[in-house]
Amino acid sequence: MQAKLLNHGQTLVLCLAVGEEIVSCVLEAAKTYQISSGTVSGIGAVRSAEIGLFDPTEKVYHKTTLQQPLEIAALTGNLSTKDGQAYVHMHVVLGDVEGRAFGGHLTSGVVGATAEIFIQICSEPIERAFSDEVGLNLMTL
Ligand code: ZN
Repeated sequence: MQAKLLNHGQTLVLCLAVGEEIVSCVLEAAKTYQISSGTVSGIGAVRSAEIGLFDPTEKVYHKTTLQQPLEIAALTGNLSTKDGQAYVHMHVVLGDVEGRAFGGHLTSGVVGATAEIFIQICSEPIERAFSDEVGLNLMTL
């Protein structure tokens, strides 16, 4: 993973290599650069991915594993903290060779060609806490 700060340190650009896993790389970058809140956006391609849908009734993620070359048509998400530790939440839309789209909560994505990710770093921290009612780690603003 290559990383470069732009905009007087307010924007972090990540360029991932083939075989790197997107969620863990963004989390590593958030830790390295001590980002306590921000937005994530990116494009690129994966060779495999695991995406999910949260079921609010069962309070579990239903996961789908995709094992094929897919374009990252859209990667979007945010950075925050939980218990003071970096926390990544990202969603993705992935396109196949016929232009069909798969989308959901991104659990993991292994880069197939590259991933070009921009992180806009915010100046104030955003913390999360687990909600028993919802079953997710929600922002506490
Ligand atoms: Zn999600």
